[in-house]
Amino acid sequence: MSAPHALIAGGGVGGLCAALCLARAGFRVSVYEQAKALEEIGAGLQLSPNASAILRSFGALDRLIPSSLVPRAVRIRRARDGATVATLPLEDAEKRWGAPYLLAHRADLQRALIETVAGEEAITVHTGAALAGFASGADGVAIAIKRGAIRTEATGDCLIGADGLRSLVRQRLAADRGVSPRFSGRTAWRALVEASRVPAEMRREETSLWLGKRAHLVHYPLRGGAVVNVVAIVEEDFRANSENFWSSPGDPAYLEARFARWRESARDLLAAASDWRKWPLFDADPLPSWTAGRVALLGDAAHPMLPFLAQGAAQAIEDAAALGAALGRDRNIERALAAYQAARLARASRVQLESRRQGKIYHLTGPAALARDLALHALGGARLLSRYDWLYDAHPLCDAAVLKSGSAE
Ligand SMILES: Cc1cc2nc3c(=O)[nH]c(=O)nc-3n(C[C@H](O)[C@H](O)[C@H](O)COP(=O)(O)OP(=O)(O)OC[C@H]3O[C@@H](n4cnc5c(N)ncnc54)[C@H](O)[C@@H]3O)c2cc1C
Repeated sequence: MSAPHALIAGGGVGGLCAALCLARAGFRVSVYEQAKALEEIGAGLQLSPNASAILRSFGALDRLIPSSLVPRAVRIRRARDGATVATLPLEDAEKRWGAPYLLAHRADLQRALIETVAGEEAITVHTGAALAGFASGADGVAIAIKRGAIRTEATGDCLIGADGLRSLVRQRLAADRGVSPRFSGRTAWRALVEASRVPAEMRREETSLWLGKRAHLVHYPLRGGAVVNVVAIVEEDFRANSENFWSSPGDPAYLEARFARWRESARDLLAAASDWRKWPLFDADPLPSWTAGRVALLGDAAHPMLPFLAQGAAQAIEDAAALGAALGRDRNIERALAAYQAARLARASRVQLESRRQGKIYHLTGPAALARDLALHALGGARLLSRYDWLYDAHPLCDAAVLKSGSAE
């Protein structure tokens, strides 16, 4: 019998990981990506153990590790004077959660995935090919693909919508009725700065999280410490400019004014960045369902989330593993997709809601901010760290049932 055929819309982190997990589950996979090339773009990414364990399971982690960095800690600092509120030790991450906590350039992750995909004969990636529509029936799925002005069709046994925040698949499934992503009132300003231009205290091998009034700042070193990834998150209006909706240039003078009362080293770090890109941050309530018949959502398409737990890509990677496991176990596609949803929806929804809550805590002001800092300090790094066990623990994810998705009978 010939291998079943999975169609995937979207060749981002979620789509490529899904392709790898499905290939390992015995599927032939066609990925359709609207961009002309699988670009190795972007800035930094924190990859928690729940994600790195899965990357390891299909061989991408070894490709990523040489260009990534293991942080010693997460240091939480107070914006006004830079005082350390708490330090969460990460050195034992691998021992504690079963896989490493990594700081990586998104381009390096994308490259590691592209190389791993290139080694899988069962996967074909079509670039410059946008999903334009689909119809799901009892025996299969038919999709329409647009390549410029040309429209073609393809058929398969299932369609996975890994087409990101503004997912066409989600819209067509009408799964997001009433809960489509909305602008959160916050923007993320991102820049990469050469380490030699950055104050010494900002170059530590740590993730630093500064909490200020209606703003926070995250920075960490990348690529062996050669560059520092900086993300400044502020509450502000955002007027969509459709040409470069996702990453419009940001005016450094705005940040200078916004962070004027922050400690000097934080201001120096911001001043050292020359090329700011601004990202509107979107949020959405959890969807009640991710699947309909032979179609399923994955990654940001299924659970758009704010980046305050640094989990969007990690959850997409978890989705991919669960999808591969479900379809590897059961060749009844509709039943397997329902099992995938059952394995993932509650956890990913929790992460969405926790990310939102985290963002509110980060931006507290006045006495509430003071109370937050005192509580964080009193709890201390080790106890704060244990609050992430439910999220980072790779052991349940490494369970044979989830990762070892052998072929179905
Ligand atoms: C400021 C910021 C910081 C972040 N930091 C972290 C972090 O530290 N750790 C972490 O885990 N996550 C982080 N994230 C989240 C992470 O970037 C996303 O959650 C993740 O990239 C989602 O992957 P995805 O594959 O689901 O979607 P995407 O990466 O959006 O990929 C979707 C793909 O689908 C393609 N596509 C769209 N429509 C179509 C179509 N019709 N046909 C064909 N292709 C289509 C797109 O071109 C794109 O390539 C951060 C996000 C932001 C904004």
